Amino acid sequence: MRPIQMVDTKTQYLKIKTEVDAAIQAVLDSAVYIGGKPVQDLAAALGQYVGVKHTIPCANGTDALQIAMMALDLQPGDEVITPSFTYIATTEVVALLKLKPVFVEVDPRTFCIDPAALRKAITPRTKAIVPVHLYGHAAPMEEIMSIAKEHGLYVIEDNAQAIGCDYRFADGRVAKTGSIGTIGATSFYPSKNLGAFGDGGAIFTNDDALAHKLKMIANHGQEKRYYHELVGCNSRLDAIQAAILNIKLTRLDEYNKARKQVAAFYNQAFTGNEKITTPFVASYSDHVYHQYTLILNDVDRDGLSAYLAEQKIPSMIYYPVPGHRQKMFGSLGLTPQNMETTDWLTERVISLPVHTEMDEEQLTYITGHVLKYVNQ
Ligand SMILES: *Cc1c(COP(=O)(O)O)cnc(C)c1O
Repeated sequence: MRPIQMVDTKTQYLKIKTEVDAAIQAVLDSAVYIGGKPVQDLAAALGQYVGVKHTIPCANGTDALQIAMMALDLQPGDEVITPSFTYIATTEVVALLKLKPVFVEVDPRTFCIDPAALRKAITPRTKAIVPVHLYGHAAPMEEIMSIAKEHGLYVIEDNAQAIGCDYRFADGRVAKTGSIGTIGATSFYPSKNLGAFGDGGAIFTNDDALAHKLKMIANHGQEKRYYHELVGCNSRLDAIQAAILNIKLTRLDEYNKARKQVAAFYNQAFTGNEKITTPFVASYSDHVYHQYTLILNDVDRDGLSAYLAEQKIPSMIYYPVPGHRQKMFGSLGLTPQNMETTDWLTERVISLPVHTEMDEEQLTYITGHVLKYVNQ
């Protein structure tokens, strides 16, 4: 059996090696390493894929979120509502910009922001909501957008884990996650569903004025070189990464399909086992399985993960410490919060390997050992 990894970017690369190597060589030959045609091509192709008017490539997903928040003219102390159950980048940039993160609970089935909790957290200082499409499942965007509209709030979608995910509106209309909010942010970190061979990110919007501003902020606040109108930052996607992403974007649907097949195999093996809750998929969402995450019921999680490690099966806890318990936010003077659902999930989730290069032999081996441990 091939060794099992949480992600296998090497095997994926080898399948497109000829194309990727040629694209990288073309960038080297052009000697245009920053910006240039590959970056422009990516912005156009990705914008078309996601279904947005404007795509601004940038250096990474964390920057994408930061630039989005900078473009909305939020003032120090303004409140930004976000789930606590997410990767730290989502909430860290809120604090970095001297805004106040307001953590709310997630729906324990979808792991995404709970609209009822969101409603309750709104105050006169609330300016924005940052829903996260965690693990590749869409947050309930229709409800979030309607709450935002009601209260005049911006919505920044953290789409780092869900590129390619379809959202279905009640009227049957379908849109990609990342295209629905005021701004969408995504990451091309190598392990993401659309991963570069280094860092990368992108920002999406349908708003012309915002797009102009986002572009300027990502480029030192300038439109005309050396004339800086806004305080911005330096956040660029390099041409080599863009050239690689252009190739991988044409295969993104195929990659997401392969992830779904892995999830279907796992689901088939685990469904009906009372010790294991398999990922829920809401009627409004597709699932692109950036992670395949189980909730364990009455199972010693550390014991399971140690047992799997002995069998050379990697597993991960995403994430072991939720935002409201991170030391970095200690100095913000947030009211100490008891977040029952988030804490409950944090103690019970475990993610199994899911990527585009898994075979049936590996999956049979993994499911067999998971079941052997939980059923003992
Ligand atoms: C990966 C990720 C980010 C940040 O992306 P980077 O490219 O690593 O900066 C932000 N939010 C979520 C939910 C992520 O998974």
